[in-house]
Parts: sequence; structure tokens; C-alpha cells
Amino acid sequence: MKPDTASAEVSGPLARDERTGREDRPSDDVEVSAGFTRDLASWTHLWFSAAVHTALEIESEGDHDDPTGSTGRRYALSLVLIDAIRNVYRGSVGVLGQDHPGLTAFTEALPSMKELRDRLEHFDEYVRGSGRHQRNRPADGAVAMTFSRSFSGADGHTIVVDVRESSGHSQYEVDTGAAIKAARALVLTTVTKAALDGDQHRERCWLCRPELASVVRHPDMGTPTTRARPRKRGRSTS
Ligand SMILES: [Zn+2]
Repeated sequence: MKPDTASAEVSGPLARDERTGREDRPSDDVEVSAGFTRDLASWTHLWFSAAVHTALEIESEGDHDDPTGSTGRRYALSLVLIDAIRNVYRGSVGVLGQDHPGLTAFTEALPSMKELRDRLEHFDEYVRGSGRHQRNRPADGAVAMTFSRSFSGADGHTIVVDVRESSGHSQYEVDTGAAIKAARALVLTTVTKAALDGDQHRERCWLCRPELASVVRHPDMGTPTTRARPRKRGRSTS
């Protein structure tokens, strides 16, 4: 069976270059290590796909007859988006190593993502007000952690989470546009490192080439989003 998207490139010239080893690769057991790296990069690309599809759902117009339900749906999906983005980062650390500049750029682009992810991971403690960063917080009777608002902007959708912490009232934002942009840059660095990038990937993967999303309807897209996509590039839509 022919593999889809990035994994189709594993036997290309870049893969051979990778197997010959780079300076920062361990010199022993290179074949096993390269295989592991490719598998991990493929999983990382899959988590990126999950993030993109989730972001598209968050950014869709929602149900005008049920605005409360639409807002709840966005809050729920934002939990999934944050997990997917986190796993793009985790997979990339495994492929690139802890100190890679691509990871630094990701963290600088999404400075509060780690803090928010940590609080949501321990949501049971933070909702009770007993989270690690909530000790000795003022007893003001306010809800300890809550989704406070959600709004659309020029570059995606933003969701704001309020947390009452020891240092006061903190707000954390999930911006779908910024999150996907940073994750895309990181996943491209990761699949390149794993020798999974190549002409076929660059030509066909609309996840990594967002401009393709406006002209190609991917067969896995499923539920239509706000972005109308003709079925094939170049075909008349009239
Ligand atoms: Zn891709």
C-alpha cells in the first residue's frame, strides 16, 4: 500500500542522505535510529494534521441559531487543539533534540502555550483552586479557572482562559491562526530533519502548504468548513 503524504518520501534522496549521518546524529545503530526518527516525524505530522482539522472546526461559523452551543463547541475543541499542538512539540523534540532553534522559535511564537497546557492538564486541581500556581491566592470567591470569552479575528479565532493564581488574575489565550502557523513551521523542520520532506510532500500536502487549501479539497476533509474548496485544482467550479 502506498503511504500517504509525508511518509511517501522515505526512500528518496534525502532519506539516503540522512542515513549517511549528520554531525549531530549518533554514530552507532544509524539504521535503527533513522527509522525511529522517521516514524516519530510521521506521528508528529499526524498530530499536526489533527491540529489543523480542529482549528478549521473552531474557525467555522457555527450555528447562528445556537450561539451558546457554538461557543461551547469552540471551548471543547480548543482543548483538543492544545493537546495536538503540544504533541507536535513533543514529537519534534524527539526528532530535533532539546536545543534546536526550531523549538525556540515555536516557544517564542506561542509564549503562553506551555503554561496554559499545564493548567489544563491539571484542570481538576486548578478548578478547585489548588493548582501549583494557585497557592496562597486571594480568597476572593471568584471561579478559579474558567473559559471567559471567544472571538474571531483577521487571523483565526481566539479563546481566552481566566485563571486565579497566587500572583493574581492571569489570562491565557489560544489563537488558532498563530498556533497553526507556529506548528506548521516546526513540523516542516521536523519532517525535513527526518528526510520525509520532498517534492511530493511539498506539492500535495495542503496541511503544510496552506495556499493549497483554497484550491484542493482533500478527500479526508469531511465536514465542510467556511472555506469553500473546489474538488480539484484547475477544474472549473461554475
Ligand atoms: Zn505536510
